[in-house]
Amino acid sequence: MNTSTIAALATPPGRGGLAVIRISGREAEDILRRLFVPAGRQEVFLDRMLMYGHIVAEGRVLDECMAVIMRAPRSYTREDVVEIQVHGGEMVVDSILKAVLAAGAVPAQPGEFTRRAFENGRIDLSQAEAVMQLISATGQQAAGAALRQLQGGTLRFVKEAQQDLIALMAGVTAAIDYPEEIEEAEAVGEIAPALTALSDRLAAACDRQGAKVLEEGLQVVICGKPNAGKSSLLNALLMEDRAIVTDIPGTTRDTVAGSIIIDGIRVHLTDTAGIRDSGETVERIGVQRAREAIISADVRLMVLDMGQEPDHEDEAILSLIKGRDNLYVFNKSDLGEHPGFAAWLKGQAIPVDAAMTLSTLAGTGLDALRQWLRQTAGNPGENALTLARHMNLARQAADALKKAARAMAEGLPLDLCAVDLNEALAALGQITGDNFSEALLDEVFSTFCVGK
Ligand code: GDP
Repeated sequence: MNTSTIAALATPPGRGGLAVIRISGREAEDILRRLFVPAGRQEVFLDRMLMYGHIVAEGRVLDECMAVIMRAPRSYTREDVVEIQVHGGEMVVDSILKAVLAAGAVPAQPGEFTRRAFENGRIDLSQAEAVMQLISATGQQAAGAALRQLQGGTLRFVKEAQQDLIALMAGVTAAIDYPEEIEEAEAVGEIAPALTALSDRLAAACDRQGAKVLEEGLQVVICGKPNAGKSSLLNALLMEDRAIVTDIPGTTRDTVAGSIIIDGIRVHLTDTAGIRDSGETVERIGVQRAREAIISADVRLMVLDMGQEPDHEDEAILSLIKGRDNLYVFNKSDLGEHPGFAAWLKGQAIPVDAAMTLSTLAGTGLDALRQWLRQTAGNPGENALTLARHMNLARQAADALKKAARAMAEGLPLDLCAVDLNEALAALGQITGDNFSEALLDEVFSTFCVGK
């Protein structure tokens, strides 16, 4: 194990009110004593007590600061940890970090603080990964999922699966070892369905789409022909003038985007240039981008002006988005429905539950639209795994379990099935870090930022 004392800026680089420099390792306290001059008659260098003073190096005051010592094992890394709160200017931080390194610390590697917390047994691997997820979460739901994982939610779910599997494996081993006492067919009759159930439980926790939405938010693109009211709708949802609203067709030249949070889920909205053939180059580029955005989004909101009879432009967009997850918004309801619109609609295969009438101008129907978007984002379950690495391993385990169950049902020898069961157990162990390799740890922690 690495015994060096490490240091890094724990807050984001750049200007800020405060910056926190973190030091961890055996020499953390000595380094602080070398650089920190306490002010007044306060009691200093007590465990977990904030102290006020100055950082002084080579006779020069570098900054006024607050500092705290958290002695092992009651600290983030379970080593002695020092945190110094300084002013958040780049020059200040740079000079203090240099002084800390000169006093005996080495620069921390990305994720090294959290890696030490893992290696010292304070957290398991899935919790270490949750720290990273929590830092990068963009919506409350994503943050909630990361926090649940950090508090051991993933660990508990996976540990339960491990225990259930071990119990079933014991049954298999018993049937192999004591063939004269345990009827194989009877054992198989009990164990095979339990293995299938466990496999299903693991597979259900691997909802890739749900996890993606949770992590990254729902990508929604607003499409429709020029003047249908796309920019107005985007503005109304964003509640600010992000896109320019005009009544000259084709004036939204590029994609315009913003994001909102509905009930904890982040929803990214992109307004596209109207899809229309145009000789003008700027608009043509916009049209190309719009097509790409339309295809790749999670959901398409097609805006139709219900005060007009739809034409070939509307139909071209309809055919482009056909067969995907769409919502059709009939806009400008305040102007009333054009008879031609109603007649046209009858001939279209637009599902009733995917269409809604609204008036962007009057603001009616916007709440229903927000609710619809929220529902579309889905509701990831309590046990949902959110990291690709966990999902891959859980699915690997689920597949191996299914294979074992099938083999058993087909009457294959039990010791053959045991191979698959061992594989499943090993995969689950890699989620929690029960059996890990240096390579796995390097891979996990390399995605962290320095200072974490
Ligand atoms: P886009 O080209 O699809 O982005 O359309 P805009 O958002 O620029 O809107 C085109 C015109 O329709 C503007 O004059 C808007 O004020 C108007 N408009 C948008 N929504 C409504 C609505 O719900 N009712 C009415 N009456 N006019 C609207």
